[in-house]
Amino acid sequence: MGMKSIDLVQLDVPNLIQQLNKAFADEWLAYYQYWIAAKLVVGQLRNAAAAELNEHANDELKHAAMLADRIIQLGGVPLTNPKDFGKFANCAYAEPLDSKIKTIIQQGIEGERCAIEVYNKLLNLTKDKDFITYNMLLSILEDEVEHELDFMALLADLN
Ligand code: FE
Ligand code: FE
Ligand code: MG
Repeated sequence: MGMKSIDLVQLDVPNLIQQLNKAFADEWLAYYQYWIAAKLVVGQLRNAAAAELNEHANDELKHAAMLADRIIQLGGVPLTNPKDFGKFANCAYAEPLDSKIKTIIQQGIEGERCAIEVYNKLLNLTKDKDFITYNMLLSILEDEVEHELDFMALLADLN
């Protein structure tokens, strides 16, 4: 007999788990991108940029944990090998080869925009089909929207 909580999900559960794992890979890559960029960033306002990058890195790591917990609740297994992150990710990893603050922040904005698109799609997928996942995704999307705005405000301060 299946678990009641999984029976309630009116979606193809293996496909949902796959989509959540893809977002999970995105979150780890975003986490690492911001974490390493915070250490490398140079230029005027680098302290403000590093603080924002570290804050966002922490949020992305929290998102990864939320996704992992939901994947497990649905009977799935979160990606167990970091080598799969690049393969599964929806969004490109932007390696901070150029540590100038403007480039770093621009890469961050692109990442947040990709994340917003991903979560918007996942919200449409789960709407009225899986309340728990929907609710979790909405709370992640709220953070990503804030992240885009924060990076844009930082860019405006630089200009
Ligand atoms: Fe995130
Ligand atoms: Fe974000
Ligand atoms: Mg912020």
